[in-house]
Amino acid sequence: MIEDKDSADKIPEEIAKLLKTQGVTRECEEKIISAFGERGRRALKTVVSRRVKKYVLQPSNRVRWIIVGREEEYLVIPLVKYCSCKDFFYYVMTGEAYACYHLLAQRIAELSGLFSEVRESDEVYDKVIASRVFIY
Ligand SMILES: [Zn+2]
Repeated sequence: MIEDKDSADKIPEEIAKLLKTQGVTRECEEKIISAFGERGRRALKTVVSRRVKKYVLQPSNRVRWIIVGREEEYLVIPLVKYCSCKDFFYYVMTGEAYACYHLLAQRIAELSGLFSEVRESDEVYDKVIASRVFIY
């Protein structure tokens, strides 16, 4: 189990390579679960059920990752390892946990290509989508 903060959502090179070349295979799933435990299992479930969306906004070309959760949609910003979910707010920001499973799901989705790409205008994103995303 990975227990240090810096590698909390860092996918080991071996798994990253498998995801890039073969996608989410059973072998990959087993390795992710053994590295990340329950968080890995939940992240995989999110990815294979296609609940990771990549918004490419026009004309700015901004990219926003949205994870469709059970009740809400969450904004994930990989660069700064941010997620707008409750777990992130209550446990990650307080240092009680290292990362939520949405951050891991985004990484798995990006590496394997298992995400839905949505092209949207900056205006619609800012007015409609961003306001729907759950943010504390
Ligand atoms: Zn989260």
